[in-house]
Amino acid sequence: MSQQMGQPMVILGDDAQRVKDRDAQSHNIAAARAVAEAVRSSLGPKGMDKMLVSSMGDVTVTNDGVTILQEMDIDNPTAEMIIEVAETQEDEAGDGTTTAVAIAGELLKAAEDLLERDIHPTAVIRGFHMASEQARNEVDSIATEVEPDDEQLLRKVAETSMTGKGAELNKELLSQLIVDAVRAVTVENDEGEHVVDLDYVNLETQTGSSASESELLEGAIVSKDPVHPDMPTDFSDASLLLVDEPIEVEEADVDTQLSVDSPDQIQQFLDQEEAQLKEKVQQIVDTGADVVFCQKGIDDLAQHYLAKEGVLAARRVKKSDIGFLKELTGARIVSSLGSATGEDLGTASITRDDDEELFYVEGTDEQAHGVTLLLRGSTEHVADELERGLTDALDVVAQTVADGRVLAGGGAIEVEVARRLRDFADSVSGREQLAVEAYADSIELIPRVLAENAGIDSIDTLVDLRSAHENGDEHAGLNVFGGSIEDTFEAGVVEPAHAKEQALSSASEAANLVLKIDDIISAGDLSTEGEEDGGPGGAPGGMGGMGGMGGMGGAM
Ligand code: ADP
Ligand code: MG
Repeated sequence: MSQQMGQPMVILGDDAQRVKDRDAQSHNIAAARAVAEAVRSSLGPKGMDKMLVSSMGDVTVTNDGVTILQEMDIDNPTAEMIIEVAETQEDEAGDGTTTAVAIAGELLKAAEDLLERDIHPTAVIRGFHMASEQARNEVDSIATEVEPDDEQLLRKVAETSMTGKGAELNKELLSQLIVDAVRAVTVENDEGEHVVDLDYVNLETQTGSSASESELLEGAIVSKDPVHPDMPTDFSDASLLLVDEPIEVEEADVDTQLSVDSPDQIQQFLDQEEAQLKEKVQQIVDTGADVVFCQKGIDDLAQHYLAKEGVLAARRVKKSDIGFLKELTGARIVSSLGSATGEDLGTASITRDDDEELFYVEGTDEQAHGVTLLLRGSTEHVADELERGLTDALDVVAQTVADGRVLAGGGAIEVEVARRLRDFADSVSGREQLAVEAYADSIELIPRVLAENAGIDSIDTLVDLRSAHENGDEHAGLNVFGGSIEDTFEAGVVEPAHAKEQALSSASEAANLVLKIDDIISAGDLSTEGEEDGGPGGAPGGMGGMGGMGGMGGAM
């Protein structure tokens, strides 16, 4: 009832609420910051993991920013905007999601202070924008070039990205596998650019053994059995057909009723089915295929015919495997056997491993260069977290090879950029200057949180880092293993420049998106924490003149 008293908006529904100007900004900033706080404690190698339990009871244990946010089941439009930032970051750079979201939260906190000092939001937005553009320039001028064949440095990049993601104990092996995988699929194009196509890297996980047993295999593995025991299983040069339609009798329409009056008719019907299956198998044989991998089912009778023809077949092969086999063997995926021809076939060598119940498939075409990164973990949770960590690391190394620039991590880059931004701020006039300075302070959140999460004094750390950078030590960062300030580049804490640039700009774009909103009109309940209108007469300022209307509702 008392809710309705503050509801003078006749144009809106009964449950609708409206929040304007500073209240709207505060509301949104609070929601966005809550999201940022939630992921902050997972930043860096000493960051903590989160256990996420879905409404279905599925448990995920992770340290991965974007995974945390996606699984959090957040139901708040502003918070969702922040999550989108994380997703964009993940898509564009494959890493740096926690960084982007944490900085966005810190920018909003700084913005709140500026707004309180009566600085107009547009000045803040402009200042943040200028600062982030400049920050990107600075990152570029600080970055070190890396050659695509500098294996040692690339391994450091992989290790830095993997630490904290369940890969520690085996990081030497795993980073080597990552670098090998990326190098296996790197080609130089006509312009001399290095192009990495991660479609040619297949990530598979297997539980039951330790991560130290992980390996990189040429080609693909297909964890399937032949559909019939009499089929051949090994080929040195097979013609491979990939099918994504079932090799079964085509179902009659659901509505069609079959009325059978005599045994003859049943026989006729079965003959028809048999003929149909025979025809499908004949179509396969006519293409010249030795091997069929089918994404859907294969009828028992068809299995029998295929075995008789000496064709190897596997059914219900994972869609992702079919996609990968296509890249690997040069086959086309056939959706209708009727139109399949020899042109659709790929070429591969196939080896059966009966113990592991899988096939090794290697492309035999010269162009084929697919590899499978087989990750092993003791349990599913371990393997899953390992997979997330290594997916990030793969992206990061691929990006690094393509982009060719790296940075010193452990907060070194953030402190250096902040220092340069403070100089830049002097050249900025008006209120924007304050926003540029606030941006510089905000990105230093990264070394602060890295220290905090490692149980190291964050204020001392920042003071020491700043003075090291004042003294010209551009690579001074915090190595959380050991806790000392040192040249993190030398120590092997190396990050890709591209992901950092992306994180810096997506953080400020997200903050600005939130700051631009000055009016929230909601059809439902705005779950504002710490609402102010408690007692009667607490109508929000500016709407007081119409507050009387609420009385009508109250009188009922
Ligand atoms: P994100 O999702 O942003 O990638 P991470 O949890 O992966 O977050 O942490 C990345 C941060 O951890 C980077 O700033 C990186 O420099 C830092 N980092 C990685 N290894 C170390 C280390 N040994 N010491 C200090 N910082 C490190
Ligand atoms: Mg990371």
